[in-house]
Amino acid sequence: MSRPLPSSDHLVGAVASGDRVALARAITLVESRKPEHRLQAQKILGSLPSPSPPSWRIGVTGVPGVGKSTFIEAFGKNLTADGKSVAVLAVDPSSRRTGGSILGDKTRMPSLANDPAAFVRPSPSAGTLGGVNRMTRETMLLCEAAGFEVVLVETVGVGQSETIVADMVDFFLVLMLPGAGDELQGIKKGIIELADMVAVNKAEGDNAVRADQAAAVYRNALSILSPSDDGWRPPVVLCSGLTGMGLEDIWTTISAHRDQALTSGTFQDKRSRQHVGWMWSMIEEGLMDDLLADPSTRDFISNLERDVAAGTIPAPLAADQAIAQRSFGIDSETAKNSKTKAPKTKRSKTGKP
Ligand code: GDP
Repeated sequence: MSRPLPSSDHLVGAVASGDRVALARAITLVESRKPEHRLQAQKILGSLPSPSPPSWRIGVTGVPGVGKSTFIEAFGKNLTADGKSVAVLAVDPSSRRTGGSILGDKTRMPSLANDPAAFVRPSPSAGTLGGVNRMTRETMLLCEAAGFEVVLVETVGVGQSETIVADMVDFFLVLMLPGAGDELQGIKKGIIELADMVAVNKAEGDNAVRADQAAAVYRNALSILSPSDDGWRPPVVLCSGLTGMGLEDIWTTISAHRDQALTSGTFQDKRSRQHVGWMWSMIEEGLMDDLLADPSTRDFISNLERDVAAGTIPAPLAADQAIAQRSFGIDSETAKNSKTKAPKTKRSKTGKP
């Protein structure tokens, strides 16, 4: 039997006082699929204090093996040594498939995970990417309310995860490997466009020349992009998570970006835009969940899928039928003309027709 949950007010108070156990319990609530937990999570999120000054939200991305965990561990330790508290979160779409979290795993960042000024939380592993997005954002709010000044959100270049993380942070750092060879062929143009800074990692020792070559290629790639709204031109720097080279300069640049954004007002504009975008992505997610919650509707749509694939029904008509079926129930004429068998009953979440 699970323990009874403390009241929302109690949890909010405990989280705000920096109680780690309460923080972990609140995160468990936002990651739960149980409706009563969701409800309580929403109550808690609605009552959390906002940190002032605002937290530092920093995204870190790069292909597996680029050195993210080594970098975050060294970077995070520098920050805690400087008196800052640091939370590390992760968005890892692959963990949905493997059932285990790779990113943000405490074993990958042992000294940060054992640092009393740090909090390392693996990627939520359940649900859709949209669900992981929501959980990570909500966890970020909880960590901020618990007093963590810097939130580092780690991700890999899989699917939409980079866009999702870039959309929830103030500063997006892209780590790249040295070398102007094969790795560069694989640069996704999109990721360069999302970057507020590119850091060529592992640039120490024998790698220095190849790192310089890579940096030149990235500078060139960035120079043809127009600057962002706030006039920021993403710099390309060299670093090494292993030796600590360049890490202080990266923090100095992130600070300069923040100062500029706070002074010009683009900091708050960007956060406001992100919050509105977040609302819309939750609306989309909620509507999709609602649509697909009923087994007969799922069957109906998977039949439509098959018919669209076979070319027996045009995609737009199938989409209309799927949406209409959910909103109004399928009309007998459509059902007669459709090759897809409509479900017998129409479901409504509220139980109303
Ligand atoms: P991740 O998969 O991106 O998290 O990468 P890891 O941090 O696990 O590092 C992958 C490999 O690269 C490990 O063998 C690390 O020891 C090595 N590595 C990480 N950072 C550096 C670095 O700055 N320089 C060098 N030479 N190797 C590094």
